[in-house]
Amino acid sequence: MSYQSTLTSEVDIMARLFKKEVVKLKKFPYIDKKAIKAFLDRLKQDRTITDKENPEDHFCSFFVPVCLPTKEIFVGHHIKANEWIPPGGHIEKNEMPKDTVYREFYEELKYKLNDEPLKLFDIGITFIKSAHPCKVHRDFWHYVLMAEKLKYKYDAGEFYKAEWLPIDTAIKRSYRQEIITHLINLKRILKSKLLKKHAL
Ligand SMILES: [Zn+2]
Repeated sequence: MSYQSTLTSEVDIMARLFKKEVVKLKKFPYIDKKAIKAFLDRLKQDRTITDKENPEDHFCSFFVPVCLPTKEIFVGHHIKANEWIPPGGHIEKNEMPKDTVYREFYEELKYKLNDEPLKLFDIGITFIKSAHPCKVHRDFWHYVLMAEKLKYKYDAGEFYKAEWLPIDTAIKRSYRQEIITHLINLKRILKSKLLKKHAL
């Protein structure tokens, strides 16, 4: 097998695995069907995942830490994005979206996840207008259920400030409709029986 064909098959495998993750979301009633289609079309036309492979259009993972007893969420005023968003980052080579959450949780919040329930609940697209090469981010949204409100030593190079907030306060601080929609979807989950199932 040539080097080139080995590379191609690796890309194909990752694209197929990502497609599976996206398809799993179809069962949720709140899911934006257009986002599902956009993700699947993108993975069909261009099977690259990372910013190294495609500097303009690539995949990212967000994660919302949720304090299970209070239902507060941890968000931060992100320096580069200049908006209140949950932590997250670019998906790297050979990572599944959840692997990125495990890595970034430690990098950004200095906390090593163990067996906390971690769930993919939504996807969305962010169009970025800046001089930065990133133009389109395809975001996987997760929540992580935490037993208590830990004081994370968040990365001060990444966030002006980051804190635990009631979800309605976090929604009020968001100005982008996409972020608001993801948080409203999360709010619904936090109130639903689904959460109980995930928390077990
Ligand atoms: Zn990017």
